[in-house]
Amino acid sequence: MILELLSGPADVLLDSLHWERMATIKAVRGTRDLLPPDTNLWNHVEATARSVFARYGFGEIRTPVFEVTELFARGVGEETDIVSKEMYTWEDRGRAESDKGQSLTLRPENTAGVVRAYIEHGMTDTGMLQKLFYIGPQFRRERPQRGRYRQFWQIGAEVLGPPWSGSDSALRDAEVLEMLATLLNELGVRGWRLALNSVGSAEDRKRYSAALREALEPVKHNLCEDNQRRAETNPLRVLDSKDPGDQEIINGLPKISEFWSEESRTHFEQVKAALDACGVPYVEDPRLVRGLDYYTRTTFEFTVPDGSGLGTQNALLGGGRYDGLSEILGGPKAPGIGFAIGEDRLILTLQAQAEEAEPAKLDAFIAPMGVAQNPAALKLAQELRRAGLGVEVGDGSWRLKKSFEAADKLARKMVIVGEDEVNSGTFTVKDFSKGEQVKLSRTELVGALTS
Ligand code: AMP
Repeated sequence: MILELLSGPADVLLDSLHWERMATIKAVRGTRDLLPPDTNLWNHVEATARSVFARYGFGEIRTPVFEVTELFARGVGEETDIVSKEMYTWEDRGRAESDKGQSLTLRPENTAGVVRAYIEHGMTDTGMLQKLFYIGPQFRRERPQRGRYRQFWQIGAEVLGPPWSGSDSALRDAEVLEMLATLLNELGVRGWRLALNSVGSAEDRKRYSAALREALEPVKHNLCEDNQRRAETNPLRVLDSKDPGDQEIINGLPKISEFWSEESRTHFEQVKAALDACGVPYVEDPRLVRGLDYYTRTTFEFTVPDGSGLGTQNALLGGGRYDGLSEILGGPKAPGIGFAIGEDRLILTLQAQAEEAEPAKLDAFIAPMGVAQNPAALKLAQELRRAGLGVEVGDGSWRLKKSFEAADKLARKMVIVGEDEVNSGTFTVKDFSKGEQVKLSRTELVGALTS
């Protein structure tokens, strides 16, 4: 090849040099490669989710990563940030006349796709509750930052069916929440917090919206620009606002609970009673609402402390009950409840928590004082390991300082094995956390090393 190039015309040679100097191609901003060993953790999270979901009777659904734009316009709502600003949409160059000019979109979330598939495959005809989970990438043109990507992964599920399948029962909400608590616990996520609220029925929310609009009217000029607009278009979304200057006004607004119908109140009480029975902790958050009309009753969010020390919370996953989404997409009545876990954030949390955690230390480090003590040290290690202790052995050729450093790094305690110790059967044990040193007989060792 080189020879060919050298003997070829000059422009071929130049082309080859040019090729070498070309700028490298990088992953698009907001997207990233997942590499080993991180992918091990991704696989572990996904395998754990699959195993938990299977135990709760969920089956996997895989929908296409792109759909017709209208699905999201209708299913997610044209007025949302997702649809109005964040979708990757293009006009298809399709070969067939019928495809040409079709507007397609990379899915920004998976609920609309799942409900479309539910309708398309006539799943309602079974009369059974459908429990479907998905794991896959979603796409939103957001401003990229840590924990916010343009291609990100969600692990989610939807439980839906005709009303006679029990799809609107409070039991289902509690079951989904208990399942999520189980999943987070099995993954070892520490410090998660479940915030819970009910947005009531469509009628409750209509009355609440009107009350909010009225309450906001005299004060809205003091709100930030975005909230001034929301106060007119969708006052519920003002409650979502993180703008620090607006919090005082928001805290003074009426609460949705004042507008719950008797049915809505009962439904929420039933969800809470079932969670209490299962010992799933939650915090009621009257400000947790969703702007879209088809969201009804239970809404929830799981957060974890963000690790910055500011006491703020990081959203791991969100979800809620809905009624009317299927109809918006041309389907039969099929109330349901769903959630989406931000897998990228879950992984970041697990990695951060693993770093924070003290590395697990062995029970003892055995330090032979001189090569001649190596066999006695190994024999002691054998005995202790047989007794179930985690033990590492140094080497008699090491200087005392090196043994100390290794022991401090690896184990909670160090056992010194010198000639005297072997002869007398008493050992010097150093406890690193207490900074103490004691002499112990062989029979006392196991108890002392595990305490
Ligand atoms: P949503 O579909 O907006 O309710 O989001 C559900 C969960 O997905 C959130 O709680 C986040 O954990 C996660 N999520 C949403 N948008 C992004 C993004 N751009 N990058 C990473 N995770 C995201």
